Amino acid sequence: MSILDSKIPEGPLADKWTNYKNKINLVNPANKRNIDIIVVGTGLAGGSAAATLAELGYNVKTFCYQDSPRRAHSIAAQGGINAAKNYQGDGDSNYRLFYDTVKGGDYRSREANVYRLAEVSGNIIDQCVAQGVPFAREYGGLLDNRSFGGVLVSRTFYAKGQTGQQLLLGAYSAMNRQINRGKIQAFNRHEMLDIVKIDGKARGIIARDLVTGKLERHSAHAVVLATGGYGNVFFLSTNAMGSNVTAGWKAHRRGAFMANPCYTQIHPTCIPVLGDHQSKLTLMSESLRNDGRIWVPKHLDDVKAIREGKKKPVDLSEENRDYYLERRYPAFGNLVPRDVASRAAKERCDAGFGVNKTGEAVYLDFASAINRYGKEQAMIHGNQNPTEQEVYDLGREVIENKYGNLFQMYEKIVDENPYKTPMMIYPAVHYTMGGLWVDYNLQTTIEGCYCAGEANFSDHGANRLGASALMQGLADGYFVLPYTIGDYLSADIRTGKIPTDGVEFDQVEKDVKDRIYKLMNASGAHSVDFYHKNLGKIMWNTCGMSRNAEGLSEAIEEIAALREDFWKNVKVTGTADSMNPQLEKAGRVADFLELGELFAKDALHRNESAGGHYREESVEQSGEQKGEALRDDENFKYVAAWEFKGEPKDAMLHKEDLVYENIELKTRSYK
Ligand SMILES: Cc1cc2nc3c(=O)[nH]c(=O)nc-3n(C[C@H](O)[C@H](O)[C@H](O)COP(=O)(O)OP(=O)(O)OC[C@H]3O[C@@H](n4cnc5c(N)ncnc54)[C@H](O)[C@@H]3O)c2cc1C
Repeated sequence: MSILDSKIPEGPLADKWTNYKNKINLVNPANKRNIDIIVVGTGLAGGSAAATLAELGYNVKTFCYQDSPRRAHSIAAQGGINAAKNYQGDGDSNYRLFYDTVKGGDYRSREANVYRLAEVSGNIIDQCVAQGVPFAREYGGLLDNRSFGGVLVSRTFYAKGQTGQQLLLGAYSAMNRQINRGKIQAFNRHEMLDIVKIDGKARGIIARDLVTGKLERHSAHAVVLATGGYGNVFFLSTNAMGSNVTAGWKAHRRGAFMANPCYTQIHPTCIPVLGDHQSKLTLMSESLRNDGRIWVPKHLDDVKAIREGKKKPVDLSEENRDYYLERRYPAFGNLVPRDVASRAAKERCDAGFGVNKTGEAVYLDFASAINRYGKEQAMIHGNQNPTEQEVYDLGREVIENKYGNLFQMYEKIVDENPYKTPMMIYPAVHYTMGGLWVDYNLQTTIEGCYCAGEANFSDHGANRLGASALMQGLADGYFVLPYTIGDYLSADIRTGKIPTDGVEFDQVEKDVKDRIYKLMNASGAHSVDFYHKNLGKIMWNTCGMSRNAEGLSEAIEEIAALREDFWKNVKVTGTADSMNPQLEKAGRVADFLELGELFAKDALHRNESAGGHYREESVEQSGEQKGEALRDDENFKYVAAWEFKGEPKDAMLHKEDLVYENIELKTRSYK
């Protein structure tokens, strides 16, 4: 078992990034014109990286499988983006954002990275405002903030419930400027199917043109993977349907270590599963927990009456409701971190208090907020004795202004008016904190192969706090990679163009072709979705909100068997050399079937609970924290990075020990 070198700069925490930038090698502007960079993925992480690298003068090629970078999954981000601006004057600082993020991640993230993230967070907001991103503003014109889970300040910048969309439009505009200058060549509707190494360095990719089906070779001096998260290994998740692990997994197979694959975030406020026909779940943004109160009935006979349609939630008086988050976590209330809120919902539903037919739903209620805002607005308008209806109308308007599009989305899906009756919500898979291991420079264990955004194992430890993914993706792309990759590329100023006709490209292209051939020529007994759904069921039942050794051991066997069956019996219609969405999907599911096994193996080896990884064997047994996740700092205070050794079951563990010099390791309490 080796110890990984994370290349954290020396010196005090707050000076590391500045010292690092002062000392790195630079590439002069004329030489940048001779250097090519491939950026796979044009969501917020890849889009911001590509635009900035091209602006600096490098020749950038971008790849995405959608028809436009504007359709990356990042567009779905609703709630907001964190930054330590302290505009509210509520005591925020870089240190506090750093502290909240490390604690939120249950002390399983790298201090130096998280501090840098906090340090550049303010720059992100300035950058995006300069691009014209329409962040919400207060009456006086200043940027507005709201709160997200796991923190006691308001530091989340937002654009209604469409923050990701607006940020992505900003990044895309910046990219477009470079496309027009000829500095970015954009290969949309292209899927990277493998990475090419020459003399141990990442020097190119094999991509499939998804319209023609043709395989293409692309070379560069460095490759950046910004290909998003792999939550769809669970089949049902809040991710876009196309989100996948293929690029990262192919890099893993060629030498990039996969870190903490089992760290998954289950988001507490999603629309519950409605039936077997579903292929996607819908998030109701965490921002709603600023104003929504979560509850279930206090008594089981009320639960029964509600499920049978004999009572409605609004019929229950306050004393018959259990606002279980406010009861259990008085300090953070409804804004506890996602892992804590999700487990609490599961606990209530497992105890029989779930309010829908399947017993897997709790209420998210806005009645108090509508009433509170309504009264405040009435006073502002000089109406001292408002009627109930006036209070409701005024309050509803405030809520509509804040979350209107989310309420509309809920009503369209569930066919109930959430202003009048509480929303029903349940936890769902949402985000993956695991991903390719990267050092401080965001370089993977393949030299010259970088990884940014949700695709890397990230700065979030075992649990991501809300509004931190957008921050990390944009920090990586706008402010970190442009420095760190320059340092690496300074050694390449005399290398010249990388040819694509060498044996290395020949071999990798052949491997890709062989794999496609195999997929197209299986027996054809079951659809790709059949396998994906079955994998998802195994994952949810054994690697979901709670995990135990027995279930995880079974999962490893079951996934391996399912994978074997897949390669014999999957049915892929169409042809290999034309547009073929079935083939695309099959390739992605094949990779999920390998990742899933490594995921379970990682979860099994980590015999502690941390953040979203809740091992039933490692739970606080008594005292104030009874039932909460119990970390084992003595044995598991490390990043688990897995090296590919032929089969997921044979993957070899490498450890990066986590050192905490600036933060005291504590029991993670939100009481
Ligand atoms: C519903 C929802 C709401 C969210 N809301 C918030 C929020 O409010 N705040 C927050 O901080 N976070 C939020 N998140 C998380 C956040 O949106 C994501 O973590 C983040 O946007 C990921 O950005 P990314 O650039 O890393 O990846 P993505 O945006 O997923 O982009 C991936 C890119 O990679 C490309 N790609 C993938 N594989 C390949 C391949 N093999 N070949 C070529 N191209 C490939 C895709 O085409 C795409 O361009 C939310 C997530 C969800 C699911």
